[in-house]
Amino acid sequence: MTPAAPVSAGHGPDRPPVATPAELLRGLRGRTGGDPVTHVERVPARPGERAPWPGWAPEELRAALARRGVVAPWRHQAEAAELAYAGRHVVVATGTASGKSLAYQLPALATLLADPRATVLYLAPTKALAADQLRAVADLGLDGVRPACYDGDTPRAERDWIRRHGRFVLTNPDMLHHGILPGHGHWSGFLRRLAYVIVDECHTYRGVFGSHVAHVLRRLRRQCARFGRTPVFVLASATSGDPATAAGRLTGLPVTAVTEDASPRGGVTFALWEPPLLPADADRVDADLATVRRSALRETADLLADTVAAGVRTLAFVRSRKGAEVVAANARRALDEAVPGLGARVAAYRGGYLREERRELERALLHGDLLGLASTNALELGVDLVGLDAVLICGWPGTRASLWQQAGRAGRSGGEALAVLVARDDPLDTYLVHHPEALFGRPVEATVLDPANPYVLAPQLACAAAEAPLTPADLDLFGDGAKEAVDSLVEAGVLRQRPTGWYWRERERPQVDLRGEGAAPVCVVEAATGRLLGTVDGGSSHFLLHPGAVYLHQGASYVVDSLDLADGCALVHPEEPDWSTHARDVTSLSVVSVRSYVDAGPVGLFLGEVDVTSQVVSYQRRRIASGEVIDTRPLDLPARELRTVAVWFTLSPQSLASAGVEPADVPGALHAAEHAAIGLLPLMATCDRWDIGGLSTALHPDTEAPTVFVYDGHPGGAGFAERAYRTAGQWLRATRDAIAECGCEAGCPSCVQSPKCGNGNNPLSKSAAVTVLDVVLTNLPADPPPRQTGPADALDAAAARPADALDAETAGGGRERDG
Ligand SMILES: [Zn+2]
Ligand SMILES: [Zn+2]
Repeated sequence: MTPAAPVSAGHGPDRPPVATPAELLRGLRGRTGGDPVTHVERVPARPGERAPWPGWAPEELRAALARRGVVAPWRHQAEAAELAYAGRHVVVATGTASGKSLAYQLPALATLLADPRATVLYLAPTKALAADQLRAVADLGLDGVRPACYDGDTPRAERDWIRRHGRFVLTNPDMLHHGILPGHGHWSGFLRRLAYVIVDECHTYRGVFGSHVAHVLRRLRRQCARFGRTPVFVLASATSGDPATAAGRLTGLPVTAVTEDASPRGGVTFALWEPPLLPADADRVDADLATVRRSALRETADLLADTVAAGVRTLAFVRSRKGAEVVAANARRALDEAVPGLGARVAAYRGGYLREERRELERALLHGDLLGLASTNALELGVDLVGLDAVLICGWPGTRASLWQQAGRAGRSGGEALAVLVARDDPLDTYLVHHPEALFGRPVEATVLDPANPYVLAPQLACAAAEAPLTPADLDLFGDGAKEAVDSLVEAGVLRQRPTGWYWRERERPQVDLRGEGAAPVCVVEAATGRLLGTVDGGSSHFLLHPGAVYLHQGASYVVDSLDLADGCALVHPEEPDWSTHARDVTSLSVVSVRSYVDAGPVGLFLGEVDVTSQVVSYQRRRIASGEVIDTRPLDLPARELRTVAVWFTLSPQSLASAGVEPADVPGALHAAEHAAIGLLPLMATCDRWDIGGLSTALHPDTEAPTVFVYDGHPGGAGFAERAYRTAGQWLRATRDAIAECGCEAGCPSCVQSPKCGNGNNPLSKSAAVTVLDVVLTNLPADPPPRQTGPADALDAAAARPADALDAETAGGGRERDG
């Protein structure tokens, strides 16, 4: 290398200088005819605001932190630390790399130094993150703190030492659940001195998993309480809406939030990108649809090829595995056409790969052998891959927190970076690229979990009872529904009621998987060689691995020969047909009970329990090039039952008629409103449209009225439908606006069409959907006062019959189908 060779830190020695974000963006947007950029937000560099060290922080700790370059805390760090040290439960919810760890390290380490008996428990969602944190604390070199990881990788020989002598123990909720709490006898010395419980990345505890973790934390509090201990909880969260409420639900305690980020950050040029509408007949992706945008996957692949060709080290985030494979394959092809061999510098990365494959890809990108990587969200946590020049985000990643975490992979070393959000053909994505205030303004979504889910509560109470008999006082700790859950466990014969409480009767402990949805992952095996290609989560297996399905792995194409659900294994063979496969399912729904409702004259809004039955019955083969449907083939897969929570609204036929909706348009209007409502719900709750399902019908036997249902795709519910009910006014207003503001004529995937419609997006009526939602919004009180109902509600659950559904959007299972 000559002295004049331009070298920037972290880049390979033979790379040209990297363009500024503005230059790079100019080059990208000049590539197509129209301008796909709907908004450019320059997120300016922000100077930090320091605060003095808290008076109680010992000199030894300050000196150790100063050696690591921390001269003084940022204001938000000091504020959270002060609250925690004063004994208040606190959540610090600020941006990526804002130094949240100092907020809990300060009070925790100060306490360990001041009180040689005190202990601290740290929880991270992944082992990798706990290992990072261990390194950070150990590097401070503080005497007597004795930090140690205690997880599945900890050698047996070390475990006993950690239990006896560890003072700063780092673990994860799974280990707390499976190891520490069941073995609380061995941990009594640690628990009776526990001063702080640190819950890092607590926004990841959402939905069903979050509801389980909420009860694991209550079990921990119960064990501490037996020793008269009430540890202070310090939680760290990515930016989210209403973090105090979410943290309160997670811990069951009153929690104060610190949300004002006072850390400095580098500038990011953030572009919102809407792929252009395709002219009729050209480059059609799906022949069913009247108007089609260029797919976000193709657009992202082209952008990735362009940035890599410009020598810009780029990470493209794609929501699905299949999508990541497609983006990498297309970018490679485009690069090879331009410069043979250049395609080899792009690869795909996703969670389903085997560990060795992932490590190798990381190494290659870090060393610059690779310039472009298309990844699922697998990189979001615990992997030290930062300092990239550009980040492409293919489709809204579901939460603002994820968006910023992904964008945060770019330019952390202090330089300017480019981030591009490429909108998918989807109502929420379209809404967001045209409403940048929803992205760059205040946080919009809250982390949602539902500890009262009986499918979570009952098994968690069984675990608690196996640890120590439950007392009536414990029922308060576990919250709403605990008494009913205990009664059901007594009835099932696993708990015995005695005057002193409830006792676990079995010899074996209950087997409860915190992350499980009941369906184990399915292995994908190459039949001829027995090679394990990867895994697919159980819920998705019917959609992705049915016989005849085309399965992509690292750009290579396979076709499924057989799916053995009992063995959890799919056999495949290499084959590259010129079609893709799309599974179809049928769904019916019946109302079991109503929890709460709003009676708004001709309009009703309900929250309640429903039974959903769905079955993958067939799949379509479509030509990759044209989207043309070749044929539809039947499948023989078992139906799946789901009891869950739904929100639904009803309208009287008279109100629809007087608003001008013709009877013939009612089915299409409800169907279109349902699709868009599902698409927009993630704006209100941290779910994505694959976590929820829906069903609309012009006459439902249980409601006896035109009805739109939206339900949680998880047994017992996950809190999403409940959130929809509580924010119905805002949610349905955004839904209405998304439809009304879409530039298409009769409905498109950006407004009322759905990628997972069980009815092939038919019938749909865009304009009548707006009218339907106007009727709902006009009648619904702005702040609906929920009314609790009793068993004598007008909706008689006993009369529930399978619905004659017009349409069904099955939740879950289909996360991979946007490839
Ligand atoms: Zn549209
Ligand atoms: Zn549909």
